[in-house]
Amino acid sequence: MTSVKPSQLQHFINNEWHKTNGDQWIDDLNPSDVSDVIALVPAGSPDDARAASAAAAAASPGWRGLSGPARAEHLYRWAGAISDRAEELAQVMAREVGKPIGESRGEVGRCVVILRYYAGEAVREIGQVIPAQSAGSLQFSLREPLGVVAMITPWNFPLAIPLWKAAPAIAFGNTVVLKPAESSSYLATLLAETALTAGIPAGVFNVLLGSGSTVGSALLEAPEVRAVSFTGSGPVGARIAASAAARNIRYQTEMGGKNVVIVMPDADLAKAASLTAAGAMRYAGQKCTATSRVIVASEVEADFMRQLRSQIEALPIGPVTDVRAAVGPLISRASHDSITKALADANAESLFTNPVPSSAEFSNGNFFPPTVVRGGDPDGILAQRELFGPVLAAFTSEDLDHAIDIANRTVYGLSASLFTADLRAALNYINRIHVGLVRVNGDTTGVDPHAPFGGMKGSSSGSREQGPAAREFYTEIKTVQVNP
Ligand code: NAP
Ligand code: MG
Repeated sequence: MTSVKPSQLQHFINNEWHKTNGDQWIDDLNPSDVSDVIALVPAGSPDDARAASAAAAAASPGWRGLSGPARAEHLYRWAGAISDRAEELAQVMAREVGKPIGESRGEVGRCVVILRYYAGEAVREIGQVIPAQSAGSLQFSLREPLGVVAMITPWNFPLAIPLWKAAPAIAFGNTVVLKPAESSSYLATLLAETALTAGIPAGVFNVLLGSGSTVGSALLEAPEVRAVSFTGSGPVGARIAASAAARNIRYQTEMGGKNVVIVMPDADLAKAASLTAAGAMRYAGQKCTATSRVIVASEVEADFMRQLRSQIEALPIGPVTDVRAAVGPLISRASHDSITKALADANAESLFTNPVPSSAEFSNGNFFPPTVVRGGDPDGILAQRELFGPVLAAFTSEDLDHAIDIANRTVYGLSASLFTADLRAALNYINRIHVGLVRVNGDTTGVDPHAPFGGMKGSSSGSREQGPAAREFYTEIKTVQVNP
């Protein structure tokens, strides 16, 4: 599409652009039109990772030595720098990861909110006074920064996830090396530009581009790194947890989901159908919290499925630059192929699909038709595997107990929603559902940036991000006793 030669991206280390010393390059493609090469991403080298972690380590004493209120001012300025470039960042997001422009704008707005929230958090109390056993002594706990924190992030929330990790990390006095996903590397360099504009001191926020298996693992081995916050798929998360545990550094791994909507006979079916359609199909189902299973009470199944179909058909498929677009392309051809194969392997019975328009705008993109299939075997592929695409598996339930049994029968435990008018049913479900994000009469996706976020079971290593939970991860406690 573009005739301009794509530029070779550089790492952002110590507030300078840093050429890789590796010689491998990865094409960063526009998923709506794969002939549009946005940039060339360095695969990176272990030396690049060492340079980034050394810069973060060198900046650490100065940054942790600043007062909380001083760090807060930096975060407020960073929020302003992002706000000033909001539309440009949203347009790049739509182009680089295929997120429809309306949601891309929403994500950029959320980044501003995240930075302001953590600017506020930087000035809150950092400990407690605890009565000492010996009279006259003063005992207190103190939260201190960890030091250098590595962040390894996915492409699907290409600005919000890096920032919901980096903002609390730096607010509480840590320095950061961010390793973004290859497929959102260009946006990560723009994020670095906004940090530079905001005057974040050199070495406090570094961006290390490249392949996870090369620079990601080298970063985890860097002796300066004291913690890693990872978001991405389960298998990669498991590896990162193992390597962090072997080095005895702190880790959090936030991973996939097999998120579920349960529809009871007394539900507001119109609302349930509209929020299920949105949760499953917007952004082509590529949110960790996307609805990938729906369990419907047999009494209302026919009526609900009819309404669901018309709600899905009402969600426009791209182009992502059109403000009306709801469903964009999949991130890659590989993702398209793996979803196609999973449906074939599962022998999936299609209930309906909403076809991708046949016009030229769609011919070079990784578009996949929104699809509803019968869920079938509760232990089968459609019930268990995170497909990360616009595919919803439908199950029938006899009653609430049966629905909760099916809902809980996965390795994942990220997000769930129950649609009902019955308070007793809702309370029963809240008590028994095994997920970190529990909704009643709502969408499985989205979360307030000031509320704790994360999953149970195979969706998370158990810590939480965002809100007050972030302080626990990015600080450690000293217990101090001062005696007369
Ligand atoms: P991914 O393939 O697991 O990659 C995530 C990050 O890990 C990327 O930066 C990747 O680099 C890096 N990586 C890969 N192999 C590595 C290794 N051996 N060592 C160190 N780092 C490595 O996930 P994705 O495809 O980008 O994102 C989609 C997944 O993220 C889905 O499973 C989704 O559910 C999950 N997700 C979870 C949440 C949540 O909060 N729970 C939120 C959003 C997304 P490369 O780009 O080079 O591969
Ligand atoms: Mg990947």
